[in-house]
Amino acid sequence: MEVLQVANPKRKWSKARTGKRRSQWKLSAPTLVSCPQCHKLTTPHRVCMECGYYDGKDVLKKAEAK
Ligand SMILES: [Zn+2]
Repeated sequence: MEVLQVANPKRKWSKARTGKRRSQWKLSAPTLVSCPQCHKLTTPHRVCMECGYYDGKDVLKKAEAK
């Protein structure tokens, strides 16, 4: 069987290119809103973990009762 030896790049992307791409990585602070029920800071569009309310209803208590 014939083995072909072809010049092969050591890596697909240079370290500089990788570094430039990763230089755009940033951590963003989570958006916080105050809960309309208990007025504590919570993430929007999520059940408030302090009082378990979402959309004016106690959704956690309802789920636990089942
Ligand atoms: Zn709350």
